[in-house]
Order: sequence, then structure tokens, then C-alpha cells
Amino acid sequence: MRHIAIIGSGPAGYYTAEAAQKRWGDEVRVDIFDRLPVPFGLIRSGVAPDHQSIKAVSRRYEKVALADNVRFVGNVAVGKQVSIPELQALYDAVVLATGAPQDRPMGVPGDDLANVFGSAGFVGWYNGHPQFATLAPDLSGTTAAVIGMGNVALDVARILAKTPAEFAGSDIVGHALEALADSNIERILILGRRGPHQIAMTPKELGELGELSRATPVVLPEDLPPPEADALLEPGLRKSVAHLRHFASTPEEERAGKSVRIEFVFFVQTLALHGDGRVQEIEVERTRLTEGGRCEGTGETLRLPVELVVSAIGYRTSPIPGVPYDERAGHFANEDGRISAPSDVGGLYCVGWARRGPTGTIGTNRPDGYAVVERIAEDLESAGQFAEKQGRAGFDALAAERGLDVVTFRDWKKIEEAEERAAREGSPREKFVDVEAMIKARQ
Ligand code: NAP
Repeated sequence: MRHIAIIGSGPAGYYTAEAAQKRWGDEVRVDIFDRLPVPFGLIRSGVAPDHQSIKAVSRRYEKVALADNVRFVGNVAVGKQVSIPELQALYDAVVLATGAPQDRPMGVPGDDLANVFGSAGFVGWYNGHPQFATLAPDLSGTTAAVIGMGNVALDVARILAKTPAEFAGSDIVGHALEALADSNIERILILGRRGPHQIAMTPKELGELGELSRATPVVLPEDLPPPEADALLEPGLRKSVAHLRHFASTPEEERAGKSVRIEFVFFVQTLALHGDGRVQEIEVERTRLTEGGRCEGTGETLRLPVELVVSAIGYRTSPIPGVPYDERAGHFANEDGRISAPSDVGGLYCVGWARRGPTGTIGTNRPDGYAVVERIAEDLESAGQFAEKQGRAGFDALAAERGLDVVTFRDWKKIEEAEERAAREGSPREKFVDVEAMIKARQ
């Protein structure tokens, strides 16, 4: 029997479990740990609440979770309540699938002012992540700045721009829906340090900005490179740039009646945020592209009035004490998913964003999960005879000894039912936003 512990129940975690099931069938036992009492990580707390079709992938993970050889071990903080070496002693392989839940820091003066948030916090707030449910962004101002030109920046801008009616069918949490319904924001600036040809937004998601009921995306025609230059772009980016061109060619009269403007501001880098306790201005420097395609400051600065700032400039994996970490890249130090810790007993791996950083789609985690299982298989085979590890029985004994309140997948299904019962009309669920309430709901 092979015993595998996976830390993190998001896409990378479940695809790894699926791959282990396929590889070893009845000859494997997989425990999937999560610090929250609820599974699915990024699918629940990261994917935008108005992108329900993307969230539907959790049904596939549920199939994996319901098999006898896979368990969900929720409400257990690995690294705090149980250490990695303890798990290594119990399981043949420990796979870190912890994602990248921390914001890459802006690192400019004033980034600690009130009403300045990283996207992890802001997205967590509207998605009801217990860590961020009480964030309470102040939406009483008229202008918001979103920094970064990736899909997360798009999510944040779109959520800020939507009317309550446009959240029909979404699972945006009640506190965010109420706050957004009272929002005064009418100008959303999306700030990019490079130009239209360097955006990281994908076409489908960018196109959605053109279909909002009260908001209109604004691109200045003079910011766009000559159309013939688009021919050199890879096809996805070319489609995204076509959306920008469409936004730029929208006549002003077509914008009449739209009360919210989503303005693309290219070639600016943030120098500082200013305000008296609360953010009031963003100071930026105009940039230009270098030969190598990076950006450099031009020395020209300007200040823009803003009352809310969300930086969406990428994420980092949270370090775990004792696990080698690549500071520059922001994820665990690894070779092809294998982690070599100094005091190593072997069998430590990472997968998904914790292995390669926050890039790609949810589906990218599938081959990643299958690949790490291949590494595990190679290592187990080359080790020859198994040391018969205790696996889940050993963990259960440890959990009992420590008085850990483990939440099972069956418990989660009860929590899920309670969330579905509490849903407002047309919504799939009203999420619990604090851990206590989740735990209580399983009874
Ligand atoms: P991302 O795609 O890497 O975009 C990050 C953006 O931040 C880039 O425009 C980058 O500009 C900019 N940036 C980075 N450092 C900066 C700095 N110091 N100052 C100013 N700008 C900076 O990351 P993401 O938006 O966080 O998305 C993460 C992953 O999730 C991506 O693969 C994304 O496609 C995926 N995702 C998908 C969806 C969906 O609906 N399909 C939704 C959300 C996320 P440079 O290019 O100049 O570095």
C-alpha cells in the first residue's frame, strides 16, 4: 500500500489525487489536507463568483473525493498543528499543493494606507474567504485604481463595475453584494506598467468588459500600436488586443447612459500612494519599453486622485518553516516537483502554483498533478521495498492525541447543503464566511 498526503485541496491537490487513483487504484490511500473546513481552494475562494461555469470543475474533484481511497482532512493547519516531518514519517509521499495565496507586495511608500488592498485580500473578501471576510473596503469614493493587467485585475474591475442584477446566478457573498450595491465608484482605472501588446489578459475575459450593463471600457486610440504590428502577436494575445481596439473605437455617443468608466492606463508604474491615513492619490511615473521588452521610467510623474487601490500584480506561495523556498520566484525550491530538504527523509514534493508560480489556467494543474505522481512512482520504485508506513491510521492517532477537530468530506457535504439552503434566489449558495459557522453547520 502507498500512502500519500496532499496539502491543499485546490485544483493541484485534487488532480494529484486523481492521478494517484489512476496510477495505483486500490493500492493507494490519499489524504488531502486543508487548513479550512471546506475544500477546493482557488475554485471556491479565487475564481470569480460570476464565473460559475469555471467553478463547476469542482464536481470532477468531488468524484475523486468520494472514492474510498481518498479522504478530505479539513480544518487541519499543516505546518502549525502537524508538521511536515511528522507527515513524512507517516506517508510515503507528502505533496505540497498549497497554491500561492499571498500577494506579491507592491513595495512602494503608502502601500499600507487604509483602503489599499492586495488582490488576495480583495478577491477573498468578495468570495467569502474567512481570512478576508471582514476586510470591509470603503466603496464610498468615486475612483478606484486596479494595478496590473492580468486576469485578476480584470476580475476585480468587473466585480467593481457590475450592478446587483448582473450578479444574478453568482455566489458572491451577501456582505460584498450589499457593499457593491451601495458603491459610488464610477471610474475604475486599470494601470499597466507596459503597453497594450504586453497585457496578460485573455480574450474571453477581456471581452466581458464590453458587455456590462452600466460600465464601458475606455482605451485611448493613441495608446495603441499601429494595427499591422498585431500580426506578430501570438493568436490569443492578438484577440485580446482586438478587444482593446474595439474599446478604443467605441464612439462616445454609444457610451451615453453608462455611468461607470473602466479606463485602461498604459505605461505607468506606481511610485507611491498618498493620503492622510486613507489613500487619496496614486503617484505614477510614465514608462517606456526597453529593447528587451521590459519597462523603464521616463522621469515624468503624475498624481491621480483615487479612493480605493487594489494591486493585482501576482501571488506568492506561503513559505513553510523548514521547507526550501525560492525567494525570487516566490514558490518552493524544487526540481521537477521534488523538494530536497536539508534534514531530508525524502518523499517531499510540490505541485501546481506551489511548484511553478501563479500562471496558466486551472487545467494546467492537471498535467502537473499527473507529472508529480510519476515522480513519486519513480522514487518509490527506485527505493525498492517499501518501508510500511502507517498512513491514515497513524495520522488519526496523532489527530486524536492532539485533539484536532478534523472535518471530513461527509461533513463538508452537510456544510454545502446548509450553504445551498441559505442561498438567495437564483444563487447556488450563500457561503459561510467564518470557520466557526462552517464547523457548526456540519452538525
Ligand atoms: P498575471 O497574469 O501574471 O498578471 C499580473 C499583471 O501584473 C501583469 O500585467 C504584470 O505586468 C503586472 N505586474 C507584475 N508586477 C508588477 C509591478 N511590480 N507593478 C506593476 N504591474 C506589475 O497574474 P494574475 O492576474 O494574478 O493571474 C494569475 C493567473 O491566474 C494567470 O495565469 C491568470 O490568467 C489566471 N487567472 C485566470 C482567470 C480567468 O478568468 N480565466 C481569472 C483570474 C486569474 P508585467 O507583464 O509587466 O509583469
